[in-house]
Amino acid sequence: MTGSAASPVPIPVRVGVHPGPALLAGVADGPSLPAHRARYGDLPTPTLDELHRLVSAVGLRGRGGAAFPFATKLEAAARGRRPVVVVNLSEGEPASAKDSALALSAPHLVLDGAVATARALGAREVHLVLPGDRPMARLRMLAAVDERHDKVRLRTHTADPRFVAGQARAVVELMSGRTNLPVTAWAPEAVEGYRRRPTLLSNAETWAQVGRLVLAGEPAYRRLGTGAEPGTTLLTHSRHGADPEVREVPFGTSFGDVLPPLPAGAAVLVGGFHGAWTTWGLLAGTPVSVPGMAAAGLPLGAGIVHVPATAGCPLGFTSAVVDYLAGQSAGRCGPCVNGLPALADAVRAAWQGRDTAARVDELAGLLTRRGACAHPDGTVRMVRSLFTALPAEVAAHRDGACVATTRAGVAP
Ligand code: SF4
Repeated sequence: MTGSAASPVPIPVRVGVHPGPALLAGVADGPSLPAHRARYGDLPTPTLDELHRLVSAVGLRGRGGAAFPFATKLEAAARGRRPVVVVNLSEGEPASAKDSALALSAPHLVLDGAVATARALGAREVHLVLPGDRPMARLRMLAAVDERHDKVRLRTHTADPRFVAGQARAVVELMSGRTNLPVTAWAPEAVEGYRRRPTLLSNAETWAQVGRLVLAGEPAYRRLGTGAEPGTTLLTHSRHGADPEVREVPFGTSFGDVLPPLPAGAAVLVGGFHGAWTTWGLLAGTPVSVPGMAAAGLPLGAGIVHVPATAGCPLGFTSAVVDYLAGQSAGRCGPCVNGLPALADAVRAAWQGRDTAARVDELAGLLTRRGACAHPDGTVRMVRSLFTALPAEVAAHRDGACVATTRAGVAP
């Protein structure tokens, strides 16, 4: 039941974008270049040192999930010859819509961040990797590219509709004309990526943050967020049966202050399919913050908060997610070829009422840190959190007492 299992969360056709305090401040003005320039003015041309100082001063971290310091990547790319800048909009995670929201509402903020960085690095090309399964976002970015006349060349690619297609090495493979799947990497992309050149690859939100910083300046950027974590981040509020909504939130805000309330015991998946289960009661008081969430044992990841169906079953939903993820790998590494289908079997058996906690633990030990990319690790993390964060749900299945009426949106 793994090879072609569909995602229990469909790729969104429509995305609700809420106006925000910074990146999404211009939603009502529309996505055009004239509207963008009217808000921000012309794009400044910071030197590499100036750009490095700016991103270091605010501690800018990548928004694709790993929260890697942007300044460190910039330094690495600057050390090599003929660097390349890449904007990754592929958003392989079905429950995520924030990069689509930027493509639809603020494409020139994304492009300004990438173009300013390319100029600072002396790079001649910016590559845009567009989502093959989100036609509106793709078309909006292509229209934005047509509006611009940068001295830097903008080249576009279209990612495959696959969960792992947005993984950094998979993107480099796509750009190189090969299959859009992850491969083993011997050095970070910022050191050796596309055509063995230093490749500064970040997702759309990261580039929009760079653009905002360059255009608005450090004092304006610092006016939002906390002293330790200045600025904002984008959250995708994904709910069963509804279009996802994207909200921009200053760091330090509590989830309970920005998302509609749920019963305290309601199960919520934070960080997407590679994230972790928790309950609304715990999440509501947790700050939107990388270290603040880590202290609560939760990943911010790419900012996804998914709420399954009210009458749905978190075990059934997790089982459907693992079935889907097992079919999304490149099928090249042992943990994915053999391990993820076995994990999918174990989670399905738990949903059906068997005690598989020991089997899940055994598989977690066998799968973690064994793949060429983090796909097995992320899947294991999400499964393990089901057993630690929702023990009453797991026990209810063992006792034959699950009261859910659906497998959270997929056929029981
Ligand atoms: S770990 Fe899985 S998804 Fe990653 S490269 Fe290996 S087979 Fe592909």
